[in-house]
Amino acid sequence: MLKLYNTLTRTKEEFKPINPGKVGFYTCGPTVYDHCHIGHARGYVSMDVIRKYLEYSGYEVRFIMNYTDVGHMVDDAEVGEDKIQKKAKLEKIDPLEVVEKYIESAKEDFEALNIKPANFNPRPTQYIAQIIKFIEDLIQKGYAYEVNGSVYFSVEKFPEYGKLSGRKIDELIEGARVEINPEKKNPMDFALWIKAEDIHILKWKSPWSLGYPGWHIECSVMSSDLLGQDTFDIHGGGNENIFPHNENEIAQSEASLGKKMANYWTLWSMVNINGEKMSKSKNNHTTVKTILANYDPMVARLWIISSHYRSIIDYTESSLSQAKTNLKKITDWVNNLQSIATDASDEKSEISFTHIYQKRFEEAMDDDLNTPLALSVIYELITETNKLLSENKLSPATAKEILSFWNRINKVLGLKLKMTQYVYSSLTLNRTIENNIPEEIISLAEKRKNAKLDKDFKKSDELRKEIEKLGYVIEDLKENNYSIKKL
Ligand SMILES: [Zn+2]
Repeated sequence: MLKLYNTLTRTKEEFKPINPGKVGFYTCGPTVYDHCHIGHARGYVSMDVIRKYLEYSGYEVRFIMNYTDVGHMVDDAEVGEDKIQKKAKLEKIDPLEVVEKYIESAKEDFEALNIKPANFNPRPTQYIAQIIKFIEDLIQKGYAYEVNGSVYFSVEKFPEYGKLSGRKIDELIEGARVEINPEKKNPMDFALWIKAEDIHILKWKSPWSLGYPGWHIECSVMSSDLLGQDTFDIHGGGNENIFPHNENEIAQSEASLGKKMANYWTLWSMVNINGEKMSKSKNNHTTVKTILANYDPMVARLWIISSHYRSIIDYTESSLSQAKTNLKKITDWVNNLQSIATDASDEKSEISFTHIYQKRFEEAMDDDLNTPLALSVIYELITETNKLLSENKLSPATAKEILSFWNRINKVLGLKLKMTQYVYSSLTLNRTIENNIPEEIISLAEKRKNAKLDKDFKKSDELRKEIEKLGYVIEDLKENNYSIKKL
């Protein structure tokens, strides 16, 4: 039974989907004016693990992550300069080129980290008509008002305002150090539509002015468009955006729907760099690309999932090097299992070796995705397996069972491991250990073997040459077996 910590209720709750077997999941995505930083890697790997564990548990997940391409101002303010427009000026390119460039960059990072692509990546510039309609509806329902071409949400009209972040309107007003906008009826009211100043490049016609949407409205509009105009199951995001962004999303959506926006709010926590908060002013801003220049992306992924998604993690060289050691431990283990399992017949061992580990793994994951605990279960299994190995007591059938258990749970952990050897053997075991044979080479070798079996020697010869061109040599062994070595 999966329990999720719900920021809305501040408790762990049993996860109950709205529609049996299905999950609607929306997470706030990055504003694409720069390369993704390490906090994004942490966040989206965490959401990926939640999504994959839901899929492992049998749910069909519809996963939406937006790319914010307009309306997010510098310092998260409502007026001033759009982050994308500022970057466009700096790079001397069009704002939409900035957007394309950094969406490509984000996709590259996500792919490297083995994050499954979302079903949809909506962008507010593609949703202007729906955004305008949504705002018109809020005005009509009495939740929003227009002043001088801008439209504001009236927080006093939404009595539950502050329920996600636990803040009260009065306290917010007292604590606010922002200059009060005279257009607003209440200082905490927030913009849904902003009349564009002349410097703004990105602006659209609307019933109120030539302007652009506020930062928060897009998530309300796009989630309801893609997940149905109703409550959906899970809303993810980073907890640094709980106020005002997520709070305002709730106000807009719930005022419009007349019911809850999302049942569960699963928010990740941030990343510190050597014990300090990451900020551009401290000059410790670290991009995903910087990490990937120094570490295998899977080291980064393992480092991220070695902490619980709701606790702050510290990016230090020693924590990354610990993850590197652990990744090697897992890789060696899987490779050993693979080489022993090759000998297994189809008979299953009578006693299940992994049953108890699977139960403990699932218990850990069911407890609000406790990945550090789940990993400790795997490390224990590795220790036990290695002990059997050293005593020559690990049977091929058991190795095969452990391997298939690993393959199942690794669909959740998402670690792409490097093969450290490859010897194809149909009957006998004749293994030579080679380093890092890429899957591409193995697949060519398999094709070559099949060509040989079909007596298509011309093709098999071509494939051999192709493999050699890529820097590997294939050696035929008895009984159609073969080995691959690096040249
Ligand atoms: Zn959002």
